[in-house]
Amino acid sequence: MADKGTLYIISAPSGAGKTSLVAALVEAVERVRISISHTTRAMRPGEEEGVNYHFIGRDEFVRQVEKGRFLEHAEVFGNLYGTSADWVAQTLRGGDDVILEIDWQGAAQIRKQLPEAVSIFILPPSLEVLADRLRGRETDDETVIQQRLDGAQEEMSHYGEFDYLVVNDNFQRALHELSAIVEARRLVTARQSARLAGVLANLLAKH
Ligand code: GDP
Ligand code: ADP
Ligand code: 5GP
Repeated sequence: MADKGTLYIISAPSGAGKTSLVAALVEAVERVRISISHTTRAMRPGEEEGVNYHFIGRDEFVRQVEKGRFLEHAEVFGNLYGTSADWVAQTLRGGDDVILEIDWQGAAQIRKQLPEAVSIFILPPSLEVLADRLRGRETDDETVIQQRLDGAQEEMSHYGEFDYLVVNDNFQRALHELSAIVEARRLVTARQSARLAGVLANLLAKH
């Protein structure tokens, strides 16, 4: 459909700031919506069912996989995560842009199915800063933090598969860069010509 929304994939090592940046992005730019994944991970203090994730058990997750409910799914740090296929399709059809905050394995699955998806990788400025952010967030115990730090380089080794790279050093700058990507994609001729059909018809009408 001509004025369909754009699907964005955002990946980053845990603690790089993707959740904070994406939350700020949807406040700053209209008609951008975040897909709420399903996960078997335990809820963190401060998280809410249906807001941060749909928290479900492993059996229910496997049932949903079997029913084909997920556009992609993957195991990350021992937990299962999956993206709702129906919600993404409906939201894009409605013309809103959709953001998937998913890991590199999920990103690869999406690219195969939907090559028009735009992918962005967020990097921390250094490994030291990444460790400080994971600890400063105070949502995970030290064992979980160590597991996430150990996995960070594996995640980051996939940066070359993404269309854009954003370094989250200064938060406002990184947010500006993310907004710029979304705004620029909206100006692509294929999308603009649908939105500007009336204007273009007038501009090109015979006098
Ligand atoms: P956080 O990223 O440190 O806040 O920790 P989470 O437990 O929320 O997420 C851990 C990892 O799972 C991150 O790398 C996410 O990108 C990834 N993830 C979250 N939701 C999904 C999903 O629906 N699909 C896939 N493939 N990965 C996901
Ligand atoms: P992720 O979703 O990638 O795991 P979060 O968005 O939870 O990361 O961010 C991890 C921690 O780092 C949070 O406590 C967040 O407030 C903080 N943070 C994010 N971006 C920045 C930044 N640019 N400067 C300093 N702290 C940041
Ligand atoms: P609506 O049905 O109005 O599009 O969605 C209502 C809200 O619930 C949205 O903010 C959406 O994020 C969330 N939501 C409901 N069901 C799902 C689902 O299956 N997957 C995802 N990712 N979000 C959902």
